[in-house]
Amino acid sequence: MNPSNNATVLSIDARAPDPELIERAAECLIRGGLVAFPTETVYGLGGNAFDAAAVRRIFKVKQRPPSDPLIVHLASADELLQVASDVSPLVKVLAERFWPGPLTLLLPRRSSLPLEVCAGLSTVAVRVPSHPVAQALLQASGIPIAAPSANRFAHTSATLAAHVAADLGDRIDMILDAGPTYWGVESTILDPLQTPPVLLRPGGISREELESVAGPVRVASPGERITASPGRQPRHYAPNVRLVLCPGETPEEILASIHEIVNKISANDPRIGLLAVTEVCSRLDRKIIPFVIRDLGSMGDLRQIARNLFADLRELEAEGVDIILAHRFPTEGLGAAINDRLNRAAQEPFF
Ligand code: AMP
Ligand code: MG
Repeated sequence: MNPSNNATVLSIDARAPDPELIERAAECLIRGGLVAFPTETVYGLGGNAFDAAAVRRIFKVKQRPPSDPLIVHLASADELLQVASDVSPLVKVLAERFWPGPLTLLLPRRSSLPLEVCAGLSTVAVRVPSHPVAQALLQASGIPIAAPSANRFAHTSATLAAHVAADLGDRIDMILDAGPTYWGVESTILDPLQTPPVLLRPGGISREELESVAGPVRVASPGERITASPGRQPRHYAPNVRLVLCPGETPEEILASIHEIVNKISANDPRIGLLAVTEVCSRLDRKIIPFVIRDLGSMGDLRQIARNLFADLRELEAEGVDIILAHRFPTEGLGAAINDRLNRAAQEPFF
């Protein structure tokens, strides 16, 4: 393992990963090391799912409570029975349609899988990632990889290797740097063991897409998510600075509420960060309000917005702003995932 205190960072091609670099990372995992690697959603912090000591170390370095279970990554659905005791026909259909990809499914846990991975639950959360680096690593190592998001617990997830290095670089063994991740928000989590299946976390695969394959899907209530999916605390993904969501649906309404909120807080002369769509950013009167602005992209391009979200939050944090103002999105498709992350990054409502 790495003798220095800092992780070895290996730059690797996102589309055609160098097999020698992958081999180094796979060996590190097999020897019990922790390797951060890109997936198509966000960067993951991987350890051998069958090595209880490595799994415990994942919790320790992230400062993640042991009650918050990890997602196990597999090279393909053919390996499900390594970690699950049963694979239902519905899981097979969902896997066939959405894997490899940003969908996590709950299955009954196989008893040989260390209990720590699943925080003592009788179910295991499983995903087959599509990112070529994640795929190559899973195939080369030949082991199921337990991998939560590669950030400090409750901090904004990492969509760049630099984010991983900032949060965890002094306490893990290796970081595979393949540039920005594709989706920018974590996987959709579905519990297909219930009838109808329950959506526990919105992500890259929308409820509408799931329903086209699985029939009606129920969206878990916020309260239910906390008990059914233990890591789903209301406050999460948080930047180290207060985030306030400005009400409004149209750019005009959002602009009006931004001005209203700024008027209320400007007496203290704060440095204000703004995270908003182009349609809002381009219409601000910057002479009146000196914002530090991060333009997320056009309102109609939710993919771009999801991709920018966490990196822009981290950038505003690094700019040293006192408060970040942002706004919600239409709830269809990826908008549900974006709103979920924003709601949970924000503290109490402003009004
Ligand atoms: P992260 O890997 O950081 O995106 O977090 C994984 C999340 O998956 C956890 O916080 C839980 O909410 C959820 N999860 C993982 N395993 C289970 C499980 N067995 N049952 C319910 N939710 C799970
Ligand atoms: Mg996480």
